[in-house]
Amino acid sequence: MSETPNKTAFLVREVFPVSQEHIIFNSDKRIEYSCDAYESVIKRAANTGQCFFIVHSHFNGYVGFSELDDEQESKLLTCVWNRISNGYHGSLVFNDASTFEGRVFEPISKEFQEIHRLKVVGNQYRIISSINQPEPRAINLEKLDRNIRAFGEDMQYRMAELHIAVIGCGGTGSALIEMLGRMGIGTLTIVDHDRFDVSNITRMHGTKVGDENRLKTEIISEMIDSFDLATIVVEISERLDNATTGEKLKDCDMIFSCLDDTNFTRLILNQLSLFYYIPLIDMGIAFDSRNEVLHDVLGRIDILTPDRACLLCRDVIDMDACASEMMSPEEYNRQLKIGYAKELKDDNVQSVTYNTMIASQAINEMLYMLLGMRDIHRNSHKVYKYYSDRITNDGVNDLVKKTDCICGLSEKLGRGDSDTFLDMYWPNKNHV
Ligand SMILES: [Zn+2]
Ligand SMILES: [Zn+2]
Repeated sequence: MSETPNKTAFLVREVFPVSQEHIIFNSDKRIEYSCDAYESVIKRAANTGQCFFIVHSHFNGYVGFSELDDEQESKLLTCVWNRISNGYHGSLVFNDASTFEGRVFEPISKEFQEIHRLKVVGNQYRIISSINQPEPRAINLEKLDRNIRAFGEDMQYRMAELHIAVIGCGGTGSALIEMLGRMGIGTLTIVDHDRFDVSNITRMHGTKVGDENRLKTEIISEMIDSFDLATIVVEISERLDNATTGEKLKDCDMIFSCLDDTNFTRLILNQLSLFYYIPLIDMGIAFDSRNEVLHDVLGRIDILTPDRACLLCRDVIDMDACASEMMSPEEYNRQLKIGYAKELKDDNVQSVTYNTMIASQAINEMLYMLLGMRDIHRNSHKVYKYYSDRITNDGVNDLVKKTDCICGLSEKLGRGDSDTFLDMYWPNKNHV
Protein backbone atom coordinates (compact mmCIF):
# COMPACT_ATOMS: atom_id res chain seq x y z
CA MET A 1 0.00 0.00 0.00
CA SER A 2 1.05 3.57 -0.56
CA GLU A 3 -0.52 6.22 1.63
CA THR A 4 0.00 9.96 1.33
CA PRO A 5 -2.13 12.93 2.44
CA ASN A 6 -3.48 13.07 -1.15
CA LYS A 7 -4.31 9.48 -1.95
CA THR A 8 -4.23 5.83 -0.98
CA ALA A 9 -2.94 3.40 -3.60
CA PHE A 10 -2.96 -0.39 -3.56
CA LEU A 11 -0.12 -2.24 -5.27
CA VAL A 12 -1.05 -5.63 -6.72
CA ARG A 13 1.57 -8.18 -5.70
CA GLU A 14 -0.02 -11.60 -6.03
CA VAL A 15 -3.02 -12.92 -7.96
CA PHE A 16 -4.70 -16.22 -7.11
CA PRO A 17 -7.31 -17.55 -9.57
CA VAL A 18 -10.09 -19.68 -8.06
CA SER A 19 -8.98 -23.26 -8.60
CA GLN A 20 -11.18 -25.87 -10.24
CA GLU A 21 -11.55 -27.90 -7.04
CA HIS A 22 -13.42 -25.04 -5.33
CA ILE A 23 -15.98 -24.51 -8.09
CA ILE A 24 -19.37 -25.88 -7.08
CA PHE A 25 -21.42 -24.73 -10.06
CA ASN A 26 -20.38 -23.20 -13.36
CA SER A 27 -22.57 -22.22 -16.32
CA ASP A 28 -22.23 -19.44 -18.87
CA LYS A 29 -24.40 -17.23 -16.64
CA ARG A 30 -23.33 -17.99 -13.12
CA ILE A 31 -20.44 -19.37 -11.14
CA GLU A 32 -20.54 -20.53 -7.57
CA TYR A 33 -17.57 -21.59 -5.51
CA SER A 34 -16.94 -22.62 -1.95
CA CYS A 35 -15.55 -20.28 0.68
CA ASP A 36 -12.52 -22.57 0.95
CA ALA A 37 -11.30 -20.82 -2.21
CA TYR A 38 -10.55 -17.76 -0.07
CA GLU A 39 -9.10 -19.52 2.94
CA SER A 40 -5.50 -19.98 1.85
CA VAL A 41 -5.42 -16.49 0.26
CA ILE A 42 -6.69 -14.79 3.44
CA LYS A 43 -4.13 -16.74 5.45
CA ARG A 44 -1.35 -15.65 3.10
CA ALA A 45 -2.48 -12.00 3.22
CA ALA A 46 -2.51 -12.16 7.04
CA ASN A 47 0.98 -13.70 7.21
CA THR A 48 2.55 -11.29 4.74
CA GLY A 49 0.79 -8.09 5.84
CA GLN A 50 -1.10 -7.65 2.58
CA CYS A 51 -4.62 -6.46 1.75
CA PHE A 52 -7.25 -8.77 0.27
CA PHE A 53 -9.29 -7.97 -2.85
CA ILE A 54 -11.88 -10.02 -4.73
CA VAL A 55 -12.01 -9.56 -8.51
CA HIS A 56 -14.75 -10.83 -10.79
CA SER A 57 -16.68 -10.11 -13.98
CA HIS A 58 -20.31 -10.43 -15.12
CA PHE A 59 -21.55 -12.67 -17.93
CA ASN A 60 -23.87 -10.01 -19.40
CA GLY A 61 -21.17 -7.35 -19.77
CA TYR A 62 -22.63 -5.26 -16.97
CA VAL A 63 -19.86 -3.29 -15.28
CA GLY A 64 -20.76 -2.37 -11.74
CA PHE A 65 -21.59 -4.17 -8.52
CA SER A 66 -24.87 -6.03 -8.31
CA GLU A 67 -27.08 -6.15 -5.20
CA LEU A 68 -25.88 -9.70 -4.69
CA ASP A 69 -22.25 -8.47 -4.79
CA ASP A 70 -23.08 -5.84 -2.17
CA GLU A 71 -24.61 -8.38 0.16
CA GLN A 72 -22.02 -11.13 -0.23
CA GLU A 73 -18.97 -8.90 -0.25
CA SER A 74 -20.06 -7.07 2.91
CA LYS A 75 -20.20 -10.41 4.71
CA LEU A 76 -16.95 -11.75 3.29
CA LEU A 77 -14.98 -8.54 3.79
CA THR A 78 -16.24 -8.23 7.38
CA CYS A 79 -14.80 -11.73 8.01
CA VAL A 80 -11.54 -10.78 6.33
CA TRP A 81 -11.28 -7.59 8.35
CA ASN A 82 -11.86 -9.52 11.59
CA ARG A 83 -8.78 -11.57 10.71
CA ILE A 84 -6.60 -8.83 9.18
CA SER A 85 -7.58 -5.62 10.92
CA ASN A 86 -4.46 -3.62 10.06
CA GLY A 87 -5.29 -3.16 6.39
CA TYR A 88 -7.98 -2.27 3.88
CA HIS A 89 -9.81 -4.90 1.84
CA GLY A 90 -12.06 -4.52 -1.15
CA SER A 91 -13.22 -5.68 -4.55
CA LEU A 92 -13.10 -4.93 -8.25
CA VAL A 93 -15.44 -5.82 -11.06
CA PHE A 94 -14.68 -5.46 -14.76
CA ASN A 95 -15.34 -7.17 -18.05
CA ASP A 96 -12.69 -5.74 -20.31
CA ALA A 97 -9.74 -3.40 -19.99
CA SER A 98 -11.69 -0.21 -20.73
CA THR A 99 -13.37 0.51 -17.39
CA PHE A 100 -14.19 -1.02 -14.00
CA GLU A 101 -15.87 -0.41 -10.67
CA GLY A 102 -13.84 -0.79 -7.51
CA ARG A 103 -14.27 -0.20 -3.81
CA VAL A 104 -12.71 -0.56 -0.39
CA PHE A 105 -14.78 -1.84 2.52
CA GLU A 106 -15.06 0.32 5.62
CA PRO A 107 -15.71 -2.22 8.40
CA ILE A 108 -17.03 0.14 11.08
CA SER A 109 -19.64 1.96 9.00
CA LYS A 110 -20.08 -1.11 6.72
CA GLU A 111 -19.87 1.26 3.77
CA PHE A 112 -17.79 1.09 0.63
CA GLN A 113 -15.37 3.73 -0.60
CA GLU A 114 -14.89 4.24 -4.32
CA ILE A 115 -11.64 3.43 -6.16
CA HIS A 116 -11.18 5.93 -9.00
CA ARG A 117 -8.32 4.71 -11.13
CA LEU A 118 -6.39 1.59 -12.06
CA LYS A 119 -2.89 1.85 -13.45
CA VAL A 120 -1.21 -0.92 -15.40
CA VAL A 121 2.57 -0.59 -15.41
CA GLY A 122 4.65 -2.68 -17.77
CA ASN A 123 5.27 -2.60 -21.47
CA GLN A 124 2.64 0.14 -21.59
CA TYR A 125 1.46 2.61 -18.99
CA ARG A 126 -2.31 2.34 -18.99
CA ILE A 127 -4.67 4.32 -16.84
CA ILE A 128 -8.18 2.91 -16.56
CA SER A 129 -10.90 5.11 -15.11
CA SER A 130 -13.76 3.86 -12.96
CA ILE A 131 -17.32 4.06 -14.29
CA ASN A 132 -17.87 6.51 -11.42
CA GLN A 133 -14.81 8.60 -12.22
CA PRO A 134 -15.36 12.24 -11.27
CA GLU A 135 -15.36 14.75 -14.13
CA PRO A 136 -11.91 14.96 -15.78
CA ARG A 137 -9.89 18.12 -15.29
CA ALA A 138 -10.79 20.88 -17.72
CA ILE A 139 -8.26 21.51 -20.48
CA ASN A 140 -7.74 24.47 -22.77
CA LEU A 141 -8.77 22.99 -26.12
CA GLU A 142 -7.79 26.08 -28.08
CA LYS A 143 -4.25 26.35 -26.75
CA LEU A 144 -3.66 22.61 -26.89
CA ASP A 145 -5.13 22.22 -30.37
CA ARG A 146 -1.90 21.14 -32.12
CA ASN A 147 -1.13 18.58 -29.41
CA ILE A 148 -4.65 17.20 -29.75
CA ARG A 149 -4.32 16.91 -33.53
CA ALA A 150 -1.18 14.82 -33.00
CA PHE A 151 -2.14 12.63 -30.05
CA GLY A 152 -5.92 12.86 -29.74
CA GLU A 153 -8.27 14.47 -27.22
CA ASP A 154 -8.35 11.37 -24.99
CA MET A 155 -4.61 11.47 -24.65
CA GLN A 156 -4.72 15.17 -23.83
CA TYR A 157 -7.17 14.52 -21.00
CA ARG A 158 -4.91 11.73 -19.77
CA MET A 159 -1.95 14.13 -19.76
CA ALA A 160 -3.99 16.55 -17.65
CA GLU A 161 -4.51 13.75 -15.10
CA LEU A 162 -0.83 12.81 -14.99
CA HIS A 163 1.47 13.72 -12.14
CA ILE A 164 5.08 13.65 -13.25
CA ALA A 165 8.23 14.25 -11.21
CA VAL A 166 11.45 15.60 -12.68
CA ILE A 167 14.56 15.22 -10.55
CA GLY A 168 17.11 17.88 -11.43
CA CYS A 169 16.37 21.29 -12.96
CA GLY A 170 19.70 21.74 -14.78
CA GLY A 171 20.35 21.60 -18.52
CA THR A 172 18.41 18.40 -19.16
CA GLY A 173 15.78 18.80 -16.42
CA SER A 174 14.81 22.35 -17.36
CA ALA A 175 14.38 21.35 -21.04
CA LEU A 176 12.27 18.38 -20.01
CA ILE A 177 10.07 20.38 -17.64
CA GLU A 178 9.50 23.09 -20.23
CA MET A 179 8.33 20.53 -22.78
CA LEU A 180 6.11 18.70 -20.27
CA GLY A 181 4.58 22.04 -19.31
CA ARG A 182 3.86 22.95 -22.94
CA MET A 183 2.30 19.52 -23.46
CA GLY A 184 -0.32 20.23 -20.76
CA ILE A 185 0.80 17.76 -18.06
CA GLY A 186 -1.53 18.20 -15.07
CA THR A 187 0.92 18.20 -12.16
CA LEU A 188 4.69 18.54 -12.15
CA THR A 189 6.82 17.92 -9.08
CA ILE A 190 10.22 19.48 -9.67
CA VAL A 191 13.17 18.67 -7.44
CA ASP A 192 16.46 20.59 -7.17
CA HIS A 193 18.21 22.05 -4.12
CA ASP A 194 20.53 24.23 -6.21
CA ARG A 195 20.47 27.95 -6.96
CA PHE A 196 20.97 29.57 -10.36
CA ASP A 197 24.51 30.56 -11.19
CA VAL A 198 25.42 32.70 -14.20
CA SER A 199 27.37 29.78 -15.72
CA ASN A 200 24.00 27.94 -16.03
CA ILE A 201 22.80 30.47 -18.64
CA THR A 202 24.33 28.43 -21.47
CA ARG A 203 21.90 25.54 -21.01
CA MET A 204 19.17 26.12 -18.47
CA HIS A 205 15.82 26.73 -20.14
CA GLY A 206 13.60 29.47 -18.72
CA THR A 207 16.43 31.47 -17.14
CA LYS A 208 17.89 34.91 -17.73
CA VAL A 209 20.72 37.07 -16.43
CA GLY A 210 19.38 38.59 -13.23
CA ASP A 211 18.17 35.22 -11.88
CA GLU A 212 21.46 34.71 -10.00
CA ASN A 213 21.09 33.11 -6.61
CA ARG A 214 17.40 32.29 -7.05
CA LEU A 215 16.29 28.71 -6.49
CA LYS A 216 16.21 26.81 -9.77
CA THR A 217 12.83 25.31 -8.87
CA GLU A 218 11.37 28.78 -8.36
CA ILE A 219 12.57 30.04 -11.77
CA ILE A 220 11.30 26.94 -13.59
CA SER A 221 7.99 27.08 -11.75
CA GLU A 222 7.47 30.67 -12.96
CA MET A 223 8.17 29.56 -16.52
CA ILE A 224 5.48 26.85 -16.32
CA ASP A 225 2.99 29.30 -14.78
CA SER A 226 3.59 31.69 -17.68
CA PHE A 227 2.15 29.11 -20.14
CA ASP A 228 -1.17 29.32 -18.25
CA LEU A 229 -2.12 25.73 -19.08
CA ALA A 230 -3.38 24.97 -15.55
CA THR A 231 -0.34 22.86 -14.65
CA ILE A 232 0.10 22.56 -10.90
CA VAL A 233 3.78 22.80 -9.98
CA VAL A 234 5.05 21.31 -6.72
CA GLU A 235 8.51 22.67 -5.91
CA ILE A 236 10.90 20.61 -3.79
CA SER A 237 14.09 22.59 -3.25
CA GLU A 238 15.83 20.04 -1.08
CA ARG A 239 18.35 17.28 -1.61
CA LEU A 240 16.78 13.95 -2.36
CA ASP A 241 18.94 12.13 0.16
CA ASN A 242 16.50 11.67 3.02
CA ALA A 243 13.35 9.67 3.56
CA THR A 244 11.10 12.71 4.11
CA THR A 245 11.90 14.21 0.70
CA GLY A 246 11.80 10.82 -1.01
CA GLU A 247 8.31 10.12 0.35
CA LYS A 248 6.99 13.24 -1.39
CA LEU A 249 7.45 11.42 -4.73
CA LYS A 250 5.02 8.62 -3.86
CA ASP A 251 2.12 10.54 -5.44
CA CYS A 252 3.74 10.63 -8.89
CA ASP A 253 2.72 8.52 -11.88
CA MET A 254 6.14 8.63 -13.49
CA ILE A 255 9.60 9.97 -12.63
CA PHE A 256 12.24 11.43 -14.92
CA SER A 257 15.69 11.57 -13.45
CA CYS A 258 18.09 14.10 -14.96
CA LEU A 259 20.88 13.81 -12.45
CA ASP A 260 24.59 14.32 -12.86
CA ASP A 261 26.87 11.63 -11.56
CA THR A 262 24.97 11.01 -8.31
CA ASN A 263 24.70 7.33 -7.60
CA PHE A 264 23.04 7.49 -4.20
CA THR A 265 20.06 9.52 -5.48
CA ARG A 266 19.74 7.13 -8.43
CA LEU A 267 19.70 4.23 -5.98
CA ILE A 268 16.82 5.87 -4.08
CA LEU A 269 14.87 6.37 -7.32
CA ASN A 270 15.57 2.78 -8.37
CA GLN A 271 14.14 1.46 -5.06
CA LEU A 272 11.20 3.88 -5.18
CA SER A 273 10.30 2.74 -8.69
CA LEU A 274 10.37 -0.93 -7.68
CA PHE A 275 8.66 -0.51 -4.30
CA TYR A 276 5.82 1.66 -5.64
CA TYR A 277 5.54 0.57 -9.31
CA ILE A 278 6.38 4.08 -10.52
CA PRO A 279 8.08 3.92 -13.95
CA LEU A 280 11.44 5.67 -13.89
CA ILE A 281 13.03 7.20 -16.97
CA ASP A 282 16.67 7.85 -16.15
CA MET A 283 19.00 9.69 -18.50
CA GLY A 284 22.50 11.06 -18.77
CA ILE A 285 24.94 12.73 -21.15
CA ALA A 286 28.66 11.95 -21.31
CA PHE A 287 31.34 13.57 -23.42
CA ASP A 288 33.90 11.08 -24.64
CA SER A 289 37.09 13.13 -24.96
CA ARG A 290 40.59 11.73 -25.00
CA ASN A 291 43.62 14.03 -24.78
CA GLU A 292 41.32 17.01 -25.30
CA VAL A 293 40.01 15.55 -28.57
CA LEU A 294 36.27 14.93 -28.62
CA HIS A 295 35.47 11.45 -29.96
CA ASP A 296 31.75 11.25 -29.36
CA VAL A 297 28.88 12.48 -27.23
CA LEU A 298 26.87 9.74 -25.56
CA GLY A 299 23.29 10.10 -24.43
CA ARG A 300 21.77 7.33 -22.31
CA ILE A 301 18.13 6.57 -21.54
CA ASP A 302 17.02 3.78 -19.19
CA ILE A 303 13.37 2.95 -18.66
CA LEU A 304 12.67 1.03 -15.49
CA THR A 305 9.40 -0.81 -14.92
CA PRO A 306 8.89 -3.48 -12.24
CA ASP A 307 9.13 -6.32 -14.77
CA ARG A 308 12.60 -5.31 -16.01
CA ALA A 309 16.14 -5.76 -14.69
CA CYS A 310 16.82 -2.66 -12.59
CA LEU A 311 19.52 0.02 -12.78
CA LEU A 312 21.71 -2.01 -10.40
CA CYS A 313 21.51 -5.08 -12.66
CA ARG A 314 22.32 -2.82 -15.62
CA ASP A 315 25.41 -1.38 -13.85
CA VAL A 316 24.00 2.13 -14.31
CA ILE A 317 24.51 2.68 -10.58
CA ASP A 318 28.07 2.43 -9.29
CA MET A 319 27.76 1.03 -5.76
CA ASP A 320 31.37 1.91 -4.81
CA ALA A 321 30.77 5.55 -5.74
CA CYS A 322 27.44 5.31 -3.94
CA ALA A 323 29.24 4.27 -0.74
CA SER A 324 31.58 7.29 -1.08
CA GLU A 325 28.61 9.62 -1.56
CA MET A 326 26.99 8.32 1.62
CA MET A 327 30.02 9.14 3.79
CA SER A 328 30.42 12.39 5.70
CA PRO A 329 33.04 14.69 4.05
CA GLU A 330 35.55 13.90 6.86
CA GLU A 331 35.03 10.16 6.56
CA TYR A 332 35.27 10.36 2.76
CA ASN A 333 38.60 12.23 2.88
CA ARG A 334 40.00 9.81 5.47
CA GLN A 335 38.94 6.70 3.53
CA LEU A 336 40.12 8.20 0.24
CA LYS A 337 43.61 8.77 1.67
CA ILE A 338 43.96 5.14 2.72
CA GLY A 339 42.52 3.95 -0.58
CA TYR A 340 39.22 2.55 0.76
CA ALA A 341 36.83 5.05 -0.81
CA LYS A 342 36.19 5.41 -4.51
CA GLU A 343 37.12 8.90 -5.71
CA LEU A 344 34.05 10.88 -6.75
CA LYS A 345 34.28 12.44 -10.20
CA ASP A 346 33.38 16.03 -10.87
CA ASP A 347 33.45 16.16 -14.68
CA ASN A 348 30.24 18.06 -15.15
CA VAL A 349 30.52 18.78 -18.89
CA GLN A 350 27.24 19.89 -20.45
CA SER A 351 25.97 21.39 -23.67
CA VAL A 352 22.49 22.76 -24.33
CA THR A 353 22.05 20.97 -27.66
CA TYR A 354 22.73 17.50 -26.27
CA ASN A 355 20.90 18.14 -22.99
CA THR A 356 17.81 19.22 -24.90
CA MET A 357 18.12 16.32 -27.32
CA ILE A 358 18.19 13.63 -24.63
CA ALA A 359 15.32 15.37 -22.81
CA SER A 360 13.21 15.24 -26.01
CA GLN A 361 14.01 11.60 -26.54
CA ALA A 362 13.11 10.73 -22.95
CA ILE A 363 9.70 12.42 -23.31
CA ASN A 364 9.10 10.56 -26.55
CA GLU A 365 9.70 7.31 -24.65
CA MET A 366 6.99 8.39 -22.19
CA LEU A 367 4.61 9.08 -25.08
CA TYR A 368 5.30 5.67 -26.61
CA MET A 369 4.50 4.08 -23.26
CA LEU A 370 1.25 6.02 -22.87
CA LEU A 371 0.20 5.40 -26.47
CA GLY A 372 1.30 1.75 -26.41
CA MET A 373 3.32 2.35 -29.56
CA ARG A 374 6.49 0.49 -28.75
CA ASP A 375 7.78 -2.65 -27.10
CA ILE A 376 9.82 -1.09 -24.31
CA HIS A 377 11.11 -4.52 -23.39
CA ARG A 378 13.30 -4.20 -26.43
CA ASN A 379 14.05 -0.53 -25.81
CA SER A 380 14.49 -0.16 -22.07
CA HIS A 381 18.16 0.84 -22.35
CA LYS A 382 19.55 2.95 -25.14
CA VAL A 383 22.81 4.73 -25.73
CA TYR A 384 22.82 7.34 -28.47
CA LYS A 385 26.26 7.87 -29.97
CA TYR A 386 25.56 11.20 -31.54
CA TYR A 387 28.73 11.82 -33.56
CA SER A 388 28.74 8.39 -35.07
CA ASP A 389 24.93 8.44 -35.54
CA ARG A 390 24.47 5.09 -33.81
CA ILE A 391 22.11 3.75 -31.18
CA THR A 392 23.29 0.77 -29.14
CA ASN A 393 21.95 -1.16 -26.18
CA ASP A 394 25.08 -3.15 -25.31
CA GLY A 395 22.97 -6.26 -24.71
CA VAL A 396 21.31 -4.62 -21.69
CA ASN A 397 17.79 -5.04 -23.08
CA ASP A 398 18.18 -8.79 -22.88
CA LEU A 399 19.38 -8.77 -19.26
CA VAL A 400 17.38 -10.80 -16.79
CA LYS A 401 17.01 -9.74 -13.18
CA LYS A 402 19.85 -10.93 -10.97
CA THR A 403 18.43 -13.36 -8.43
CA ASP A 404 20.07 -11.62 -5.48
CA CYS A 405 19.09 -8.11 -6.64
CA ILE A 406 16.23 -6.16 -5.11
CA CYS A 407 14.35 -6.22 -8.45
CA GLY A 408 14.32 -10.03 -8.34
CA LEU A 409 12.92 -10.30 -4.81
CA SER A 410 9.15 -10.72 -4.78
CA GLU A 411 8.96 -9.45 -1.20
CA LYS A 412 10.37 -6.10 -2.33
CA LEU A 413 8.46 -5.55 -5.59
CA GLY A 414 5.37 -3.45 -4.94
CA ARG A 415 6.07 -3.57 -1.21
CA GLY A 416 4.94 0.06 -0.82
CA ASP A 417 5.05 1.60 2.66
CA SER A 418 7.25 -0.12 5.22
CA ASP A 419 8.61 0.72 8.68
CA THR A 420 11.78 2.20 7.15
CA PHE A 421 11.08 3.99 3.86
CA LEU A 422 12.28 1.76 0.96
CA ASP A 423 13.89 -0.56 3.54
CA MET A 424 16.99 1.60 3.16
CA TYR A 425 19.69 2.85 5.45
CA TRP A 426 19.41 6.66 5.47
CA PRO A 427 22.72 8.40 6.21
CA ASN A 428 22.74 11.82 7.81
CA LYS A 429 25.26 13.44 5.53
CA ASN A 430 26.66 12.78 2.09
CA HIS A 431 28.10 14.42 -0.98
CA VAL A 432 25.08 14.06 -3.24
ZN1 LIG B 1 -20.96 -9.53 -9.40
ZN1 LIG C 1 18.21 -5.46 -10.24
